[in-house]
Parts: sequence; C-alpha cells; structure tokens
Amino acid sequence: MSKIGADDLIVATGASRANLETLPRGEILPPLIPLVDIERSEYVGRLVQTDLVIAGIGETFHVPRAWKVDCREPDCQARQRTIDLRERKELLQLCRMSDDQVRGFMRRFSGCKHRTTAKIITMATITELLAFPVASATVDESMRDYREKIVVLLGAPLQSNIRYRATGEVIAEPRGQRASLLITALDRLQSAAERFTLLPAVCDRFRVFQIPRSASPSVDTAWDYARGLARDLTRHITKIYGLHRELLLLVALLTFHSPAVIPWGGEPIKGVLDVLCIGDTGQGKTTLIRRLMAAVGLGHFASGSTASRAGVLYSLDSKVHDKRVLRWGAFPLAHGELLALDESQNVPREEWREFTTARSEGVLRVERSIRAEHPSRVRLFCLANPITRHSMAELQYGIMAIHPEQGFLDPQDLRRFDVVICVAKGDQDIEDVKVTPLPDTTESPVSPDLLRESILWAWTRQLNHLGYAQNTERTIRKIAGVLNELYGTPEIPLLITDAHEKVARLAFAFAALLHSTDQTHQQIIVTPTHVWLVGRLLSAIYTHRNCAFDQYARILQQRSSLTDRDYELIKADLLTRGSNREDSTATETFLDLFLTEDDVPRSDLEAATGLGKDALTRRIGKLRKHRLILSGRRGYRKTARFVAFLRQWSAERANPPNLSNLPENDSEGSLSC
Ligand SMILES: [Zn+2]
Repeated sequence: MSKIGADDLIVATGASRANLETLPRGEILPPLIPLVDIERSEYVGRLVQTDLVIAGIGETFHVPRAWKVDCREPDCQARQRTIDLRERKELLQLCRMSDDQVRGFMRRFSGCKHRTTAKIITMATITELLAFPVASATVDESMRDYREKIVVLLGAPLQSNIRYRATGEVIAEPRGQRASLLITALDRLQSAAERFTLLPAVCDRFRVFQIPRSASPSVDTAWDYARGLARDLTRHITKIYGLHRELLLLVALLTFHSPAVIPWGGEPIKGVLDVLCIGDTGQGKTTLIRRLMAAVGLGHFASGSTASRAGVLYSLDSKVHDKRVLRWGAFPLAHGELLALDESQNVPREEWREFTTARSEGVLRVERSIRAEHPSRVRLFCLANPITRHSMAELQYGIMAIHPEQGFLDPQDLRRFDVVICVAKGDQDIEDVKVTPLPDTTESPVSPDLLRESILWAWTRQLNHLGYAQNTERTIRKIAGVLNELYGTPEIPLLITDAHEKVARLAFAFAALLHSTDQTHQQIIVTPTHVWLVGRLLSAIYTHRNCAFDQYARILQQRSSLTDRDYELIKADLLTRGSNREDSTATETFLDLFLTEDDVPRSDLEAATGLGKDALTRRIGKLRKHRLILSGRRGYRKTARFVAFLRQWSAERANPPNLSNLPENDSEGSLSC
C-alpha cells in the first residue's frame, strides 16, 4: 500500500475522522503544507508536515516529561500513578513556569488535589527555532510565502544540516492569536550535492575538463588548457572579457571546485578555498561571480553592507514574536556550499576575528545570551573595494590595498586567505579590448549544466576520495618554499610558514576542476603538474602590474633585514659615548623600554629616561633615520628591523663577547674588513 495523506484518504474513501483514528498510525501520512499555513485554524490540533530551513535558534527549556505520584489520602485517584506526556502539547505550558507552578501542574495533572509530591522520571528538552520555508515540489511555487515562524522542537536541534521535513502538531499558542508547531520529528532533506549521482553518461561528458591525453603532459600544456576553459566560459557565461578577468574566473572556478576537506601529512585539513578579490568598482568582479552562480544554480550571495538583518555570521534579536532569538547569518547558512560576499570591506574588524575562527575551524560557535554552534565549511569568495584610496591606481603597489595598516583586515584575518587577487581599471590593454569577441554562437563544450554537475561531483568527494600521486607532496613543499621566498613577509602574511597548506588546497582544486581521476571517476588524484599550476596561477596574479606583490615583498624584506654591518653601525650611532656627547645610560633605558613594549607613547619615554624634550627628540630622530620605528595611534611602534636589532643587542648584553679568547694573530685584518 502506498502512503497517502490523511486528507486524501478522507476524500478518496469517504471515511470520517473517527474512522481515520482507528487506522494504524504508520499507514497515513500527515498533509504536507506550506509553513505559513500553520496559521490556518483548520490545522490547529492536527498533525502536519512542512519543509523548513532552520534560520535561527531561540531559548532551550528542560521540563519534566514523565513523573510518578503516590498519594496517601483516601479516595485520591493518584495512587501509584505514572504520567508520561510523551509528545503532548502540555510540555509547552511547562516551559515558562516557575518551579512551584511545575510542581502544582504535575500534581493536578495526576488528578490529586492534595499536597503530595511528584517524582520526576524523565525530562524533555524543548527548543524554540526560527524557521523559514524551503521550496518544495509538492507546494505550488506561486503560493509560497517566505515569512518566518517560530516553531518548537521536542528535542535538541540537529546541527549537521539546515533543510528539514518537520512533522508535528499545530498548536494554538496560549498567549496571543498566533499558531505554532510542536515538532516531534525532523528529517533531513537532501541538498543538491546529496542528490548528485555519478552516472556513466556524466563521466563521459566530464572528459571535456580533462587535459587531452594525446598532448605532452607539460605544465605549459596544462596551464593553457586551464586558461582555455576559463576563456570558453567567459564567452558563454560571464561575458566579462580580458586576460586578467579570465584569470579571475579561473580562481572562481577553483573556489567552486575545492573539496571540503583534504589530507595533508596524514591529517585532514580544511580543503575549501578562501579567496579575496579587491579592486576598483565597475570592473565586473561582482557581475562575473553572479553570472557564474546563476548559470550553475549553486552558491549564495550576500553583502557585507546589508547582509539582511542577520549580518554575515549571526545576530541576536532581543525579541521576535516576544522571544529571544539567535538568527544565523549568510555564512553558516551556506554550509557545504559557496558564499560570495560582496562589499566585504564593510564587515567590521571585530566581526572578522569571529569570522576567521569559524573559517579555520569549520564551526561557528556563539557564546552569548544564547549559546549555539553551526557547522560552517564554506567556500568563500570575498569581493572588496580599497578603503583608504579612491582607486587602485593611487597605490604604488596594488597589494598595499590589503596591508593591515590601510586595509580592513588584521594580519591574522588576512593570513587565512588562500589567494588575494587585485582588479584595477587599467588592467585591460587596449589590444585586449579590441579583441573582445562578438557574441559566440558556437556551442560551448562545457554547458552550464555540465559545469554544475562537475561542481557537485567535487562537493561530494570525501577524504577517502582524495589521493596524492607520487612525488606530489614533495613538490608542494618545494613550490611553497619558493613562494615563501618570493612573497613571504610578516606584514602581508599570505605566503608564510603555512604556505604548503594553501598550495595543497589549490592543487586539489585544480585536480578537481581538471577531473584528474581514476577509472571509476570516484577519486581525485593530485599530481605534481597541478602543483606547478598553482605556482603559475599565483605568479600570474601576484606579479601582475595591478598587484606587484613580488616587488612590494622584496622592499619589505629588505627593510626588515638587519645585517651584521647594519647592527654595528646602528649600535655605534646610538650608544657610543663621546661620539654624540649624549648620556648612553639614558639611551640604554630607552632601548630597554622598547625591548618589552610593542607600542611606546612618548610620555612613557620621557618618564623612564628623564631626558629633556630635545634630547629625546634627537634619539627618536635617530631611530627613524635607521627605519627602526613607525608612529602609530598608540605611540611609537617597532619595525621588524628594530626587533632584530634589540634581539641581538640584549643577547650581547647578557653575554658580552669575550675578547681575551680571540687568537692573537687574528686581530686587525679580520676586524677592519
Ligand atoms: Zn491526592
């Protein structure tokens, strides 16, 4: 017997509601209704089903569910009596009662009018949820109503998924005219990725992503092939032309294809890519990602400026329908998928810290008046405009737009990005504009549908589907080392000590995009070629003239370095008595202060050294001349060069060089060179 809804059964068989009650429970399904219909009086008191997304979480209550009474009064029916409310709506009445009221309720419910005490056997958890409806094939689209509702769940909310089919009784709330739903069962609805099945026909069509086997497997060939895919999709989908915009599209394709988790050094690490695209407005960066998302029908879009009422991460509403509610933001709600975050420079710095923790842990934890957590394994594509300049052209080096001193990110938040790509008005040569092709009427080998399947294939790859070909991990370490040498600087910490993890993530994304796989098409196999592609990609992005990260990193590296000769010169200038007729003891006190503090206000320097205004200004002038300090909001700040100097100076002071140990004959010559 196929399952049918109760309403259908009544219509089909002419059965009365009383007949219906006698039927075995499992054979009738409650009607599937839109969430908004729980307001309709005809459903009050009935069991229904509705598809919903949990958008937030309210208060949690622990109430007695089953208890025992044993009244000693004669004629009392509450003798050796056990009550179990199971899924009854009286549970809700208990939620907001005082302890005294709860005791009274349990006694009365057992039928006792005396002063007996009930013994609690089982407790139940009741959670208020903020829900909004999801699209359902069985509910007419035109009738959809997106208003959110507060519903009540018997139990603690599940965390692993956000789209559910809820089953429960519609209840008239005791207070107010509102109806609600007491949910007694939540069944996961499959996401687009979970519905994906790898059919042989699809595997065949995926061949178009693969680097042709006939071609020589050189890195050049692979690079040309990957760029060719981006060019083709530019013509057919994004229509934002130019070589650099094709590069941006390639980065977006890699972000879409990045697996959730990847293996590294025997441990699972984050596989989803975090990308930041920063640059001038009107350059098509937002249009590019929106068109790509629309074509494949995947991904979520939010803005750092408006991001609805919920913000990017979450918001705490003091009162929604008289309740306190934690509303999840765009980032956690995009769990398992991709979020494009426009205007991300408007996300406040304080929020980035929480954001960064959630991004690196894959879980958003909230410990406020409501405590909750939400899985947040999200491919992140941030779009931003420079905040201290009107255009990228005003920056000597484009990458300076994200320098923590003038950008919107602190170093630890910037560090979590795998790639930063700059976009500037002047990117396109006049030649590029001229070759902008006429609309292409030929059919693309990669249709939007196929691209969607390809992305879903990547999203469904688990850790056991990901493997390294021979020598690949070694190549990752090697390329990461080279990148670290070229771009490693603590001021813009994009490719520092953890560069190998970023290279590994990008290499897996390349392997997924190019369908590097086994015979069954289940595995993603990353090879040294993919690692070299990562090197190509990052150098194309970072050495581009709109970015010039290579040049800027070189300057920063030089500035922060301190050679032995620099050290001796600076020490002589600051501390040699007589050469400057200054009190070197005061200078030592002065240096001591910098040794232990990060930001030193001028007033502290005056107080600690007892130096006069002019004497202090002269010493500060010397530190500036040697590029040892910068002026910050909270005082003077040490440069990396000063840190290196102070380290050497304090070590030397603790262990003065023992000149008597030097060999007799090794004096003049070696010291004067
Ligand atoms: Zn009694």
